[in-house]
Formats: sequence, C-alpha cells, structure tokens
Amino acid sequence: MGAEKGLDLREESRRKSAGIVIPIDGPAGSGKSTAAKGVAERLGFDYLESGALYRAVGYQVLNKNREGDFESRAVDSARGLRFECRKEGNAWKNVLDGEDVTDALRDEVISDMASRVSAIPGVRAALLDFQRNYGRKRGAVIDGRDIGTVVFPEARLKFFLDADIEVRIQRRFAELEARGVPFHPDHLREDLKRRDERDRHRASAPLRKAEDAEEIQTSEIGVDQVLEVMLEKIRLVYGEVIEDA
Ligand code: C5P
Repeated sequence: MGAEKGLDLREESRRKSAGIVIPIDGPAGSGKSTAAKGVAERLGFDYLESGALYRAVGYQVLNKNREGDFESRAVDSARGLRFECRKEGNAWKNVLDGEDVTDALRDEVISDMASRVSAIPGVRAALLDFQRNYGRKRGAVIDGRDIGTVVFPEARLKFFLDADIEVRIQRRFAELEARGVPFHPDHLREDLKRRDERDRHRASAPLRKAEDAEEIQTSEIGVDQVLEVMLEKIRLVYGEVIEDA
C-alpha cells in the first residue's frame, strides 16, 4: 500500500514537472554525466546526454553516411538522427536507429569525430530542436557544453561542473577501463586536451559557464556529495513541484 502511494506521488510529481529542464554543462571528465543521471533518477526525470548526439552524428559520418563532403555528410546525419537515451535495468543506453551503440560511441576515434562535427553550425542547428523537445512531457536533465547558454538559456536553475585537467584525465582512464574499452593513455591525454581547446574556442556555441549557472568544482569531492549539493539547490528552486526528491 505504502509503495503504491509512493508510486502515485512520483507519477504526480512527474506530471507536474513537465517543462522543467535542468541543464548541466562542463568539460569532459568533470563528472557531469554521472551527476545528471543521478539527478534524473532521484527526480524521475528524463535524461539526455547531448554529447552522445554529437557522437552519434560522428559515428554515422564514419560508418554509414559516406556520400559527399565531410560537412554535408555531418549535417545530413544530424537532420535525420533517430536517437534516444533509454534506461535499461540499472544502465542508461544510447540507442541509434534502434541499435544499442553505448560502447561504440565511447571509442576514442568517435570522441574526436564528435568534437569535429560539433564545430559545424549546421549540425548544431539541426540538433537544437531535437534537444528542445526533451522536457515537454516530463522534466528532463540534459548534460553537455551549451545547454545552459544556448539550448535552454531561460532555465531557472542550471549547473556548470568543472575539475582540474589531471583529475579529468584520470577519470576518463577509469571510465574506459571499467567499460573494457581499449585506449592508449598518451593518445587519450592529448585527445582530451585537444577537445577541450576546440570546444572552448570554437565560434559556434563554445563551452563556457552561463553567468547564472551554479558552478561546482568536483576535483576534490565525490559523486554523492556533488549530487547532494545539486539536489539541495533544486529543492530550493523547484521545491513546490518536486516533492519526493
Ligand atoms: O560530452 P562528450 O565528451 O560525450 O561530448 C563529445 C563532444 O561533443 C564534445 O567534445 C563536444 O565537442 C561535443 N558537444 C557539444 N555540445 C554539447 C555536448 C557535446 O559540442 N552540448
């Protein structure tokens, strides 16, 4: 009985949360995806890993769409993208054209492709509507580089996570090891630095903290602590709609 009441309440707060989007931006390895999944799970919100959209476009350009020049292949792929983040058991899966591509998208080659296609304005424009459609039916947590600055600049509460470069590199090593994805440490280190540079300095929607974003330095604090800090802020801003967080 108690459990059913809990479910009702959760369903009720999900309905009330429609339209709420919580943007979480930051560089690779800042812990934003882990934090975003944690927040989405605690609130019963949808979750979108926007980096996976750019990775999915890079994946298609490399593996499927090989007609024409690089830029038009990338824009075509972005326009026709059929992608979703889906929770299966305890894991979030990236599903592209009905196929589970979660591990394939973490490949080093795809990371670099994602960063390259993401600097193309036509790709960003095509993915903008896709991202804005999230959060319509129920609340959503979206992580990325420009979610608080460009995609949802009007969000009432947004976060920016950051950490020292060495800490971020070590996290990437650990993440790939845990997934069993092969990598070359020196290449990965160089790749992360190169992507950082490109993401921060590109002309179209560069990585930067929105002026009104809550900044959290994650170098010295654990995942649970980051999550608690975020939930505390969320309760302050959205307490009236989020009753069971
Ligand atoms: O977050 P992740 O490392 O998976 O992102 C892969 C690449 O996608 C980034 O290096 C960045 O170039 C791009 N990206 C972006 N805008 C976002 C999310 C990711 O340009 N909102």
